[in-house]
Amino acid sequence: MKVMKFGGTSVGSPDKMKSIIPLITGDEKVVVVLSALSGTTNSLLEISELIRSAGTQEAINRNEALRSKYKQVVYDLFSTDEFRNEGYDLINSHFDYIGEFIAKAFTKLHEKTIVARGELLSTALFHNLLRERGISSVLLPALNFMRIDKDGEPDVFYIGENFKRELSQYPDENIIITQGFICRNAFGDIDNLKRGGSDFTASLIGAAINASEIQIWTDINGFHNNDPRYVSNTKVLRQISFDEAAELAYFGAKILHPSSVNPAKENNIPVRLKNTLNPDDEGTLITAETIWEDYKAVAAKDGISVIRIKSDRMLMAYGFIRKVFEIFEAYKTPVDMVTTSEVSVSITIDNQQYLKQIEEHLKEHGSVEVENDLSIICIVGDFRTERTGSAPEIFEALDTIHLKMISYGASPHSLSILIDSKDKIQALNLLNQYLFKQ
Ligand code: ADP
Ligand code: ASP
Ligand code: MG
Repeated sequence: MKVMKFGGTSVGSPDKMKSIIPLITGDEKVVVVLSALSGTTNSLLEISELIRSAGTQEAINRNEALRSKYKQVVYDLFSTDEFRNEGYDLINSHFDYIGEFIAKAFTKLHEKTIVARGELLSTALFHNLLRERGISSVLLPALNFMRIDKDGEPDVFYIGENFKRELSQYPDENIIITQGFICRNAFGDIDNLKRGGSDFTASLIGAAINASEIQIWTDINGFHNNDPRYVSNTKVLRQISFDEAAELAYFGAKILHPSSVNPAKENNIPVRLKNTLNPDDEGTLITAETIWEDYKAVAAKDGISVIRIKSDRMLMAYGFIRKVFEIFEAYKTPVDMVTTSEVSVSITIDNQQYLKQIEEHLKEHGSVEVENDLSIICIVGDFRTERTGSAPEIFEALDTIHLKMISYGASPHSLSILIDSKDKIQALNLLNQYLFKQ
């Protein structure tokens, strides 16, 4: 049994939705995880923001515009009046529901309920498309089994038990459809796995059923060795390891949700990245095996802040670093990069929600400086300590860029560098020229 996840671009138009049918109708039983149609999640977030900020008329207009867009989708997707009418009823029920939130008190919970419409719509429409074509399938509601705990982490045991229970009701069904991204939280409210979270849904389900393969279908031939949004001449990687993929995804390679590699890695399930627009291409295979190469790929993550704590008296005293980290822990703020010197420690974070409070607490231990609008560049390759000569090539490539922090030696797979975000595109291009000779 395999899991096949189709992203927003793969279900972004009626024609694209139709074109995935031959991909899922083989002999093997499949769980099909669908994202919302491309652009829908953004639109729903914008509508939510308008409701929150009391932009009532604009919220009504945007909701109606999205309803009209979906009416056209329904018309083009189905060929019979019966299924078109069923489709119109479906979309009206969702957009009427959103309409009920307008001009009322609005919370984050309401936003999550609204945003969930994207995946609820795409899966219901796709399921009906298969029904119209006489292809048997079942739609399992993700809200019945996908759950995060009070820390926002997936409740793996609950997900496994409940998904398998739902699945056991359909032993003879070959196509199981479900929503990516959406889930319930520890209190039973509708929540989600954060942007791009359908990949995470796919790997959590893959792990729950010990799938033969987790396939992530998107709009590009697989993992590229640099970010194709900013660099031309990037090249597809045919094989990378779980660890390499996790580093790249965490440090900004948008093709995969940062947490989606873990469940596959823990259960040793191969992940394959495939292109819906070019299904014959083999794509990228992610497995436990590392094929060491000097340089494999580069990625960049934006929205980073660095916090520098300087304390002449404290740094060498034992317990100082622990005290500093406890402050980040108290505010549930993960740290990315850390460097230390005799008298100072620098720490980067990507979640600024509690930055002010963290800064205030840190001041009890020394002087504190914060710098924002930074990016981490992550270079994945062979950084085992027995190797020589890799760092000079990287530093030569980035000769003209201000380097703010370097992390080397923590992972045999990667080296990370902190730079100003305004230098990111130039840095990615320089690394492409120097390391990949492209
Ligand atoms: P989906 O809607 O299918 O989830 P995403 O937009 O989330 O698609 O991810 C695919 C996009 O990720 C690609 O179109 C590409 O622009 C971007 N991307 C960023 N870095 C990489 C990379 N290293 N390799 C491939 N794609 C990347
Ligand atoms: N629809 C969600 C998003 O746009 C989830 C996903 O596409 O994976 O973030
Ligand atoms: Mg995605």
